[in-house]
Amino acid sequence: MAVLVTGGAGYIGSHAVAALLERGEDVVVLDNLEQGHREAVLGGKLYVGDLRDRDVVDQVFGENEIDAVIHFAANSLVGESMKDPGKYYHNNVYGTLCLLEGMNRHGVKRIVFSSTAATYGEPERVPIDELDRTLPTNAYGETKLAMEKMMKWFDIAHGIKYVSLRYFNAAGAHESGRIGEDHNPETHLVPIVLQAAAGKRPHISVFGDDYDTPDGTCIRDYIHVSDLADAHVLAVERLRGGGDSAVYNLGSGNGFSVKQVIEIARNVTGRDIKVVTEPRRAGDPAVLVASSERARRELGWQPKRERLEDIIRSAWQWHQAHPNGYNGN
Ligand code: UDP
Repeated sequence: MAVLVTGGAGYIGSHAVAALLERGEDVVVLDNLEQGHREAVLGGKLYVGDLRDRDVVDQVFGENEIDAVIHFAANSLVGESMKDPGKYYHNNVYGTLCLLEGMNRHGVKRIVFSSTAATYGEPERVPIDELDRTLPTNAYGETKLAMEKMMKWFDIAHGIKYVSLRYFNAAGAHESGRIGEDHNPETHLVPIVLQAAAGKRPHISVFGDDYDTPDGTCIRDYIHVSDLADAHVLAVERLRGGGDSAVYNLGSGNGFSVKQVIEIARNVTGRDIKVVTEPRRAGDPAVLVASSERARRELGWQPKRERLEDIIRSAWQWHQAHPNGYNGN
């Protein structure tokens, strides 16, 4: 049996594909390569196509013995989602509907979903627990919450079991050095800070230093991308073992402010990094830190690369080896 990874050519998806291959799984990837990279798919069978294309979905399920899906294919930028919510509803929500209907047509009953801490919005408390209120502050988080709710009703009606993994800030790169983070345009903090360290940007813009946090900048929970990938594989195993649908946070339990991330990047790279303070970015909650007790207990998830220094160092190694990402290297 094979695992279908939608969005498997993307940043986190490609690390999940690598983790599945390392465990000897058969892997099928469906990616429209809008943001993904062909070179990021280290093995398995790649279909280039869109979830919203019924023929493609039927072809993928028809040609392969798929017993579980890991669903990454989505747009995931908070800022962009505030400017163009329609794009997020179309690709994320409608795309997921097409996938679930395809799974239902082909009798596939297990899905692991790449969700987000943005489903919570401004947390009532930190670390956030899975049962806490979900009130997204941005359209991206709202669409991911809608996707989770859709899976709940497909479970009730059709017995499609899901594990939704809500996580925070993925960073770092695979230890092989073959895959890493490469978005175009890049909007995420860690790669942008490293681009500034490498002299590819004149400075890093800090979006707001007047938040209600100790140094005024936003606090986030940074997780190594390979630890996230491992959690997706464990979630597939849980569903194959007959586990019921569930929602888990994946976080380190530790928050770092934007200024702290920059300081650690200065230490790791030994480079000067110039900072310019700019206005807040729309939709950003002040603090997002997760408790992952439940994932540790029920999935047996144990992050192996917890120190932010180590996470940033692995991202820096990838950046130095691939200064232009997958292109031109
Ligand atoms: N951020 C920033 N400058 C940048 C990119 C991001 O100050 O050039 C901040 C952003 O406002 C947020 C944090 O860094 O508070 C993490 O942002 P990112 O886009 O990496 O991830 P998100 O938390 O939105 O998923």
